[in-house]
Amino acid sequence: MNLHEYQGKSILKGYGVAIQEGIVADTPEEAFEGAKKLTEETGTEWYVIKAQIHAGGRGKGQTKETGSNGVVLAKGIDKVKDIAAGILGGTLVTKQTGSDGKLVNKVLIAQDVYYPGESEPAEFYMGVLLNRATGRNMIMYSTEGGMDIETVAEETPHLIHKEEIDPKVGLQGFQARKIAFNLGLSGQAFKEMTKFVFALYAAYDGADSEMFEINPVLKTSDNKIIAVDAKVAIDDNSLFRHKEIAAMRDTSEEDPVEVEASEAGLSFVNLDGNVGCMVNGAGLAMATMDIIKLSGGEPANFLDVGGTADAERVEKAFRMILSDDSVKAILVNIFGGIVRCDRVAQGVVDAYKNIGNIPVPIIVRLQGTNAEEAKKLIDESGLEVHSAVLLQEAADKVKEVLA
Ligand code: GDP
Ligand code: MN
Repeated sequence: MNLHEYQGKSILKGYGVAIQEGIVADTPEEAFEGAKKLTEETGTEWYVIKAQIHAGGRGKGQTKETGSNGVVLAKGIDKVKDIAAGILGGTLVTKQTGSDGKLVNKVLIAQDVYYPGESEPAEFYMGVLLNRATGRNMIMYSTEGGMDIETVAEETPHLIHKEEIDPKVGLQGFQARKIAFNLGLSGQAFKEMTKFVFALYAAYDGADSEMFEINPVLKTSDNKIIAVDAKVAIDDNSLFRHKEIAAMRDTSEEDPVEVEASEAGLSFVNLDGNVGCMVNGAGLAMATMDIIKLSGGEPANFLDVGGTADAERVEKAFRMILSDDSVKAILVNIFGGIVRCDRVAQGVVDAYKNIGNIPVPIIVRLQGTNAEEAKKLIDESGLEVHSAVLLQEAADKVKEVLA
């Protein structure tokens, strides 16, 4: 699950990470009130107004409606309302949103932290994530902060450093000091950076995150180290033990079909292909996707209907698959263990009748308890449903209908 910047920052703050303070707002009036409050709390007189969407690159992005950038500096409280009005309700297009852009429902009014002082402000990159190859968490960091890290990785890969954390002993002091050293810091800023690294890692670990990316981490002109941005992904499987984080879910940012699926208890992921899949069990779903690819098709989705493939769930699953126009065939591949195949077959037939006209061929492979009865039910239904017993046979039929 992805979080908005303001939500990620609230988690960071809870773990003692210094952040660019801000107040979230739904309307230009609230933005103005937020700015007033921020001045009372921090003394700031300049502000940055930041669109809250699940995508980065907001600073350089523009809304379709007003052409405003997604991150705008307000040099005075009298500017806040107009700037917020130019962003809120707009469709922000950034490098990461695609050309459709994303609707901005909220803005964050944050204190300007690039104020002048004894030294120049400096921007760094820092991300904590799992290195799947080594099975260890790692901290990636760079002196090249504030810009697209993919570009840095491509053009100047030697400027990206990695520090892996041994799970037996956790993050060590020498590692935090090495990071601060490699970022070219000394004195107060060096100390602040080691504190920052420890707190950031504690937040990543404690919130069961998949990623915590802070770009930029800012060294202020008075040598504080603070998180200016926060891009956070939380492991969905951990949400049951983080009720307060689970409540941060913003379903308006997610694929509507995937939201509907998760509400129905189905595990569904939209993909780019042309063959819809309805399968029970994640392993079988992956094997099915493989065999679709081997037979020349491309899976249009991953869908695990779970242990109870009854008529209602089967119908819901069909409707979700059919909401994707690129689907040219549907492959149903169910193993009947606890759930009997004839019941699933009846579910398929009933769902087919309820939905009415399903415009694409359906190949059904039911294997396990009562598979023969199930095949008979499908063959005798008079519907445009092809039955198959072997997985290869099902794949061949997919090939046939796609040809
Ligand atoms: P992103 O573009 O979506 O990654 O959004 P960021 O939160 O990273 O902000 C984009 C850029 O806006 C940063 O890299 C900074 O250069 C700039 N920025 C952010 N906060 C401030 C601020 O308080 N003052 C000034 N002057 N610039 C800021
Ligand atoms: Mn950023």
